[in-house]
Amino acid sequence: MEDPTESSDLWRLTLEYSPVGMALVDLDGRLLLVNRALSEMLGYDVETLTRRDFQQITHPDDLDTDLQQFHRALDGEIDSYRLRKRYLHAEGHEVWGDLSVAVVRGPERQPLYFISQILDVSEQHEYEQRLQEAKAEIEHERNALEAIFETVSVGLLLIDAEGRYERMNRQHEETMRLPFPDGHDGRAGQLGHVYHLDGKTLMKREEMPSYRAAQGEEFDDYAYWAGSDPLTRAAFSTSARQVRGPNGERLGAALAYQEITELMRAMQVKDEFVSSVSHELRTPLTSVLGHLEMLVEEDLPPSVATQLRVVQRNAARLGALVADLLLVAQVGEGGLRLQRRKVDLSALVREAVESARPSAGQAQVALRADVPDRLEAVLDEQRIRQVLDNLVSNAVKYSRPGGRATVSLRQRPDAVEIEVSDTGIGIPADETERVFSRFFRGGHALTQQISGTGLGLNIVSSIVAAHEGTVSLESEVGVGSTFRVTLPRRSG
Ligand code: ADP
Repeated sequence: MEDPTESSDLWRLTLEYSPVGMALVDLDGRLLLVNRALSEMLGYDVETLTRRDFQQITHPDDLDTDLQQFHRALDGEIDSYRLRKRYLHAEGHEVWGDLSVAVVRGPERQPLYFISQILDVSEQHEYEQRLQEAKAEIEHERNALEAIFETVSVGLLLIDAEGRYERMNRQHEETMRLPFPDGHDGRAGQLGHVYHLDGKTLMKREEMPSYRAAQGEEFDDYAYWAGSDPLTRAAFSTSARQVRGPNGERLGAALAYQEITELMRAMQVKDEFVSSVSHELRTPLTSVLGHLEMLVEEDLPPSVATQLRVVQRNAARLGALVADLLLVAQVGEGGLRLQRRKVDLSALVREAVESARPSAGQAQVALRADVPDRLEAVLDEQRIRQVLDNLVSNAVKYSRPGGRATVSLRQRPDAVEIEVSDTGIGIPADETERVFSRFFRGGHALTQQISGTGLGLNIVSSIVAAHEGTVSLESEVGVGSTFRVTLPRRSG
């Protein structure tokens, strides 16, 4: 039989230039002939590689599989086989190969040689490996998100760019029955039993949270009542975020619905309590104050008179507090009624500053009014007095000895501007939004036990709003605060 290592030029050329690794292997597994592609693939020169056997260049973990097939071919069970296996590179790392082996048999079907072709699939293998890992990671993320989506106690809704409902969690599905007892057509903006926080005004299409989100809006804490029956309805606070693709294009929006019924009911109870307590306190307190007034007129021993004045002062403070509570309750019950008339605002400011002078003196705060001789505006005198008193007393209360507080008054084209500024302790940025809320007291006021109820600025903002004016605040901790009230001058 002709020695195949000596065979035709054609065979040699094929072997030499094939991009696929090739080897002629004897029955013991020795490599009789290898091509350049294989030697490059495994990092040996052709000569070195020719002296090895395939067992030496196979990764030990894959050797058994290869040997099994090799022996089956030797035994005549099969004529060829194919497997994916790891080889050992000369530098020690793995090379993944796609191996095809064919047996060359003699006239008696006795095996003579093996021809092996090995395609380097290391890159492909690595790519597949990475793809698998990425798939597993995506799957893991998806499962985690799915679990969160269904377990949170917040209703979640996803809509597409056209406002069609894509997905919602069970929590949201259950609460949908309140506003939409007859079902929902799966499009943002469907009208239902959805009311604004007054509990009476029905929401319009363009006010519905899902519709606003479908229009590209983002918002937080947008609250409403859902359900037609005032006894069983529920309140929700909603947030929306846009979902965008890699190039920033809008894909849709995600909405979260947090139920806040308990909170809203608690707030109602608190308002009702404040209102009823202040109404109940007013009558006896008026009587106490009236009688005290009469008593101090009497000819009393000096020590009794002194004590009575203390009682009178404290009863007056209590009276002022009840008046504040009543005003807050009045705002909550549907707004303040103003008694407007033309007044000299300059005089009002001067009076407010003068009446705060004793307490400013005690606190060692220099108090100053910077006002024109006369500035007339049409407004509710008593209410604006309250605004000034509250702002001035705060400027003094939240200042340190040696500080300054100034009230200035300026005329603008259609408005008047009152500015109360101090060089006091200032208000931290995270509190500036909240200082106007009812009963809010700053951290500093609480820790330093500065007396107060947290109603002053709320009353200021309600009165200013009733006058269709605005109040703004600029403040820096340790530097001072400026409250600016702008009121329209409107006559009539
Ligand atoms: P109160 O003074 O009774 O606490 P207010 O409604 O008048 O209530 O003020 C609310 C909070 O705003 C105060 O507790 C305080 O923390 C802060 N504040 C108000 N005015 C000033 C000011 N001029 N300087 C610093 N902090 C202020």
